[in-house]
Amino acid sequence: MSSSTDYREIQEYTAKVLEIIERKEVTPEIGAWITRQTVDGFREHVNPGFLEYRKSVTKGGQYAAVEWKDSGPSCFTDIGGKEYIDCLGGFGIYNVGHSHPKVLRAVKAQMERQPLHSQDLLDPLRAILAKILADLTPGDLKYSFFTNSGTESVEAGLKLAKAYQNRRGKQTFIAATRAFHGKSLGSLSGTAKGAFRKPFMPFIPNFRHVMFGDIDMMYKTMQACAMTGDDVAAVLVEPIQGEGGVILPPDNYLAELRDLCNRFGALLILDEVQTGMGRTGKMFCCEHYGVVPDILCLAKAFGGGVMPAGATIATEEVFSCLFENPFLHTTTFGGNPLACAAAIATINVLIEEKLPERALETGAYLLANLKEVVKPYPDKVLEVRGKGLLIGVEFVDDQIGYDASKGLFDNGVLVAGTLINAKTIRIEPPLTITREQCDRVCETLAKVLANLTV
Ligand SMILES: *Cc1c(COP(=O)(O)O)cnc(C)c1O
Repeated sequence: MSSSTDYREIQEYTAKVLEIIERKEVTPEIGAWITRQTVDGFREHVNPGFLEYRKSVTKGGQYAAVEWKDSGPSCFTDIGGKEYIDCLGGFGIYNVGHSHPKVLRAVKAQMERQPLHSQDLLDPLRAILAKILADLTPGDLKYSFFTNSGTESVEAGLKLAKAYQNRRGKQTFIAATRAFHGKSLGSLSGTAKGAFRKPFMPFIPNFRHVMFGDIDMMYKTMQACAMTGDDVAAVLVEPIQGEGGVILPPDNYLAELRDLCNRFGALLILDEVQTGMGRTGKMFCCEHYGVVPDILCLAKAFGGGVMPAGATIATEEVFSCLFENPFLHTTTFGGNPLACAAAIATINVLIEEKLPERALETGAYLLANLKEVVKPYPDKVLEVRGKGLLIGVEFVDDQIGYDASKGLFDNGVLVAGTLINAKTIRIEPPLTITREQCDRVCETLAKVLANLTV
């Protein structure tokens, strides 16, 4: 820091903000002050690009919707007091709803006793959560490594597969086109979107992509790899692609992929960061297909929409390559007591409130109604598809999709969709969304579509 740093000013500014954070309500004056600080801060210090692409900001940034608080399990309110039905669900983090009281209570209690761990004594909640996960996940998945995010869960999965397969001479990885596995360098090797990848090449060597859902291409690629000595260490896929635009593979794809992996001695890594924790109508999406992976990656909803938390769960056979030296792969904050408390409460709530079942039922209801709503507009909407409460609405192009998502937003329904990525907008509300709220979403979409000019 330069010698001219004005500590006094920084102290006053931080004090003012701390005072606002602790307020139950804000006045319109404070609301306006926060909005100004937010827009200026994004422009000058976060990234001005965000102000261009987000539908929550008007051109030039004169008006911006700034979020402030949750209001009910499936809604939140901006600082101006406008309420939104949350059909974006934080891209799948709010499965148990916003601010679930049981999750909050667990985290608050842990926070008041001991927020973070010593890093040396054995921390109890890590062990307890790992046991719960072994019981909750399908098949013989047994050991867990805890993380803070989805990309870290995928990194851990990749490193585990490398550690296990390197000694067997297998070093090739296969992922799928349109995949999304995160944006750190390892997981980005598996992510498929050219725009995200090009500036950061090269990646992990020996990473290939095949068409998602095409079992024949997967078979031929694995066969070719076996013939050339580029043996496949692992295949990394999402059971249903979320970020890629809610893409469902053929029904027998996952089971056939499991068979192929067995045949070629490759590990199957399933990335359920978005599809897990009840989202698609089962606790884990792979359960729809009766498939058990060797490594399962979780995050997003895993922390109950309260704490950032993720996990990588593997079979004993695979995970045991870390037994000899457990420090081979570590993280300071992964599996911290607050995150574990949140995850334990989240699992309790998912089961107690039967949220996976609810996602299946509400999802079927919403999907059927959305299909009806878009029927008169084949010139605007190509398809509505999904499983459980992971639903995609595919528009004819990005512009129509953006206009629709902006129209919904202006009418109090938040869905995904930015100026440069809106051809397919995802609808993935909290699993707590009511039928009445689904009806309001459909009515709003009907109104928006009727007013859209192609
Ligand atoms: C969001 C997502 C990730 C990345 O998670 P981050 O927490 O953003 O790193 C990885 N895989 C899938 C399938 C995702 O949807």
